[in-house]
Amino acid sequence: MSHIFPRHCKQLPPVAVRGEGCYLFDGSGKRYLDASGGAAVSCLGHGDPEIIDAVKAQLDSLAYAHTGFFTSAPAEALADLLIAHAPGDLDRVYLVSGGSEAMEAALKLARQYFVEKGEPNRGRLIARRQSYHGNTMGALSAGGNEWRRAQFGPLLIDMSHIDPCYEYRLRRDDESPEEYGLRAANLLEAELLRVGPENVMAFAAEPVVGATAGALTAAPGYFRRIREICDQYGILLILDEVMCGMGRTGSLFACEQEGVSPDILCIAKGLGAGYQPIGAMLCSREIYETIENGSGFFQHGHTYLGHPTAAAAGLAVVNALLDRNLVPQVRKQGAGLADALKAQFAQHPHVGDIRGRGLFQAIELVADRDSRAAFDPARKVAARIKAAAFEAGLICYPMSGTIDGKSGDHVLLAPPFIIDDAQIGELVQKLAGAVEAAL
Ligand code: PLP
Repeated sequence: MSHIFPRHCKQLPPVAVRGEGCYLFDGSGKRYLDASGGAAVSCLGHGDPEIIDAVKAQLDSLAYAHTGFFTSAPAEALADLLIAHAPGDLDRVYLVSGGSEAMEAALKLARQYFVEKGEPNRGRLIARRQSYHGNTMGALSAGGNEWRRAQFGPLLIDMSHIDPCYEYRLRRDDESPEEYGLRAANLLEAELLRVGPENVMAFAAEPVVGATAGALTAAPGYFRRIREICDQYGILLILDEVMCGMGRTGSLFACEQEGVSPDILCIAKGLGAGYQPIGAMLCSREIYETIENGSGFFQHGHTYLGHPTAAAAGLAVVNALLDRNLVPQVRKQGAGLADALKAQFAQHPHVGDIRGRGLFQAIELVADRDSRAAFDPARKVAARIKAAAFEAGLICYPMSGTIDGKSGDHVLLAPPFIIDDAQIGELVQKLAGAVEAAL
């Protein structure tokens, strides 16, 4: 009998024993094409010898030293490398163990920044429906996924949630994408005015929404208008690139393609590529200097901050992304994956939308294409696709979102950046089989 507390208590998973390139193998020798990189984690694929060697070398010299006493060479080098490539005036890197921790740090830092600046009323966060920022209480409060939040309501912090920028569902027929982008962004201004801008510290959003809406890109101009509103009302812009960052969308940071830079940026997942648990919060010089010249102490922290072995993995991963020219590769293979998905599903009666950027693509499933009506949640379409795909040796990331009280099913794809054309073919063919089996 197992003593592991699994995610799904009624459905024990097979034992993963080996990873190689884009594939994982279980104990019976069955091979799975990892078309979601777990959850957009394994950007370099599995079993990368360079990253494994970097981790081993770090373990041989120094596994861990507490940041209350020391910094370390890999943490310093990783921070330098990230800042050398980061957008805007991001200047400091706070290394944590994952995405939720990065978001918690972002929320605390935004709050402390305003306290130290002498604006103690600013404590409210505005975020978006149909978003996911992590599962710890602050991050979950920021997230707007009703299913994930539902039973934890009494524990959550009061925050504002505006509609996401979701062209397929929310753009009116009489609006151009640009007009819709502007209208969607102006919802932030309306909420600011409703709650009083003097009470708001920040707006948080994923530049490309991952786990709750399926590779949802914003309409043109949306984020530029968001940036303008944040500046006008003196609030911080927190961008959560935990899933869409680190090259996934075809630029090292997803916000580069939106023409904006945030005050605080969160990354994780692809930063460690699965070789070590690591995330990071990057903040602007202005925020850092406010704390440095004020109390001189960020009142937040975890035991594994700046973990040297995790930092060594992150450093090796970012170097690999750059040295192997993988970001242009993401654009090329991403275009191939988008084309293959369109060829397979564009006429499918139950695929309403095919969207994404780079190697971050998704299909949205609908009961009826004309009305865009979602499937009845009781049909559990996303879960059935996941099970059928897994049976066929394909790991993808189906999920159910909720918008306007209706459930929508998506399948998110985020394969390793080394995926080749034949593997893209295998992915789409197995996905098509799984969709047929599930509907
Ligand atoms: N933010 C986003 C956009 C995510 O997609 C996730 C995880 O899926 C998180 C935060 C939380 O990251 P983690 O699971 O590493 O805590």
